[in-house]
Amino acid sequence: MRVLMVAPPGAGKGTQGAVIAAHFDIPHIATGDLLRDHVARQTPLGRAVRDHLDRGDLVPDEIVLDMVRDALVAAKAAGTGYVLDGMPRNITQARTLYQVGKSLNMTADVALHLKADDGELIRRLLARAALEHRTDDTEDVIRRRLALYHEVTHPIVTWYAERGILVSVDAMQPVGRVGRQILTALEAMRPLLDHVPESARRPIDLTGLGAAFGNP
Ligand code: ADP
Repeated sequence: MRVLMVAPPGAGKGTQGAVIAAHFDIPHIATGDLLRDHVARQTPLGRAVRDHLDRGDLVPDEIVLDMVRDALVAAKAAGTGYVLDGMPRNITQARTLYQVGKSLNMTADVALHLKADDGELIRRLLARAALEHRTDDTEDVIRRRLALYHEVTHPIVTWYAERGILVSVDAMQPVGRVGRQILTALEAMRPLLDHVPESARRPIDLTGLGAAFGNP
């Protein structure tokens, strides 16, 4: 199973990425975690990206692409799929990632979109700030990250819908229910992946499912 996630900050990419990785036994490639790890270790890459992270700006495309390319090569060598959390974040990254995926025979089977509204996202991120002390979880930087999401990241959702690999889930629901909806959708798709070409697939929209899917 090869999944990439497109979601605003605070929608639960990290949490659900870990759920998907554990369920399918695949690596969870989280670009934000990889970048923060470089910053913490004060590597040359970490020093180059620290200010971008602190401001809530995107780091240069090539830096993330190099990291992700290495992770995909490792996943291929290990014979697994992957769940990619945090990339692509703009259309250039989406296109380049597709080229890299094609060259490795590792393009994504599913683009998972987690949907939530800004008020809820800001509430969640401020609550997290009190616990985790991420340098980019101050209110100004949160607003900057959300604005960037709407401006440059969200438009790629349409691109994946047109490719027929989009699955949309309502991330305003309790975390357990979001996870169950995601795994159910991915499991339902699994038998089709090797047999139905992308061009014959249709986007799947679960955002209206709500409580029909059981209690939290
Ligand atoms: P969030 O989704 O809550 O913003 P992440 O941990 O995914 O958290 O990302 C944190 C920061 O890492 C981003 O604000 C950005 O500076 C940087 N980053 C992560 N992924 C990318 C990417 N694909 N391209 C550019 N910058 C990225």
